[in-house]
Amino acid sequence: EDKILEVSDLKINFRTDGKEFTVVNNISFFIKAGETLGVVGESGCGKSVTALSIMKLLATPPGIYAGGEINYLGENILKKKEKEMRKLRGNEISMIFQEPMTSLNPVITVGDQIDEVLLLHNKMSKAQAQEGSINMLKLVGIPRPEEIYKSFAFELSGGMRQRVMIAMGLACQPKLLIADEPTTALDVTIQAQILDLMRDLKERTNTAIMFITHDLGVVAEMCDRVMVMYSGEVVEEADVFSLFKDPKHPYTQGLLESIPKLGDRKKRLKPIPGQVPAPGSIEVGCKFADRCPYVMDICRQSDPPLLHVTEGHTSRCWLHEKEAKEYELTTT
Ligand code: SF4
Ligand code: MG
Repeated sequence: EDKILEVSDLKINFRTDGKEFTVVNNISFFIKAGETLGVVGESGCGKSVTALSIMKLLATPPGIYAGGEINYLGENILKKKEKEMRKLRGNEISMIFQEPMTSLNPVITVGDQIDEVLLLHNKMSKAQAQEGSINMLKLVGIPRPEEIYKSFAFELSGGMRQRVMIAMGLACQPKLLIADEPTTALDVTIQAQILDLMRDLKERTNTAIMFITHDLGVVAEMCDRVMVMYSGEVVEEADVFSLFKDPKHPYTQGLLESIPKLGDRKKRLKPIPGQVPAPGSIEVGCKFADRCPYVMDICRQSDPPLLHVTEGHTSRCWLHEKEAKEYELTTT
């Protein structure tokens, strides 16, 4: 059993103004050691809420863990106390995301913070840790790393803090790394360097990575499997090759058509018309119906189930009922 993370039927609600609505609706997935799972979808689809839940960093209230389990190495973290979670975070599970200020200590220099992480995980002297930290800072593309090593977080620009946080997140050699749009704000050269670092970490230490992004180019480069989320639900899951070669769900197809093809950068992009529905606004039927070019009567009358269309490939769409039945016949 090499599943590092296994989420089953996770349901997250939000309560505001006395109303409660579901933002993550019974999602299930797993990540194995050494594997990168990409999580894609427009903003407002529940990707970040899912990531925060895994770290148990979701603010409750307004968030509510309404059902399901989040098993990390076979233990349900939803049952763990905050004290236990603090031991896991930034140690076995680390998270890198867009807002770095919250994860950096304001009163300890950047260098001392990374040293601490290194010393906790390796047998080394303080001098060796310092050398390692400066090297990490260099690897995430920080110019004059010796100087930055002695700085406090507030003295740095947003982009610089972002890179320091990534250096820390990788220095601890986590078993599980959750990256939520970690490089979105950075320029392409730095982004490429950081993605290289993450790949290298995965190869060296067999880290499991959950990689949240809206950039399908990055997904193609980084991920082994991909989970597509729409309006709080998983609408498609497949290995990265199948997803790009044979996307099933109309939403996934729309996402793929909205990115420029390699070698065809001038081709006009076709954005998906319309918007992600507000949580709770669609009570019955497919949440994508208002934007779907293939919408049928059944789509608005009945919730599409997540169907197995082939080995390891699922789609939540009524179009694939026949395909799923045929696949079922081959497996039983
Ligand atoms: Fe489109 Fe219907 Fe499939 Fe939803 S279930 S994606 S509306 S075809
Ligand atoms: Mg987000």
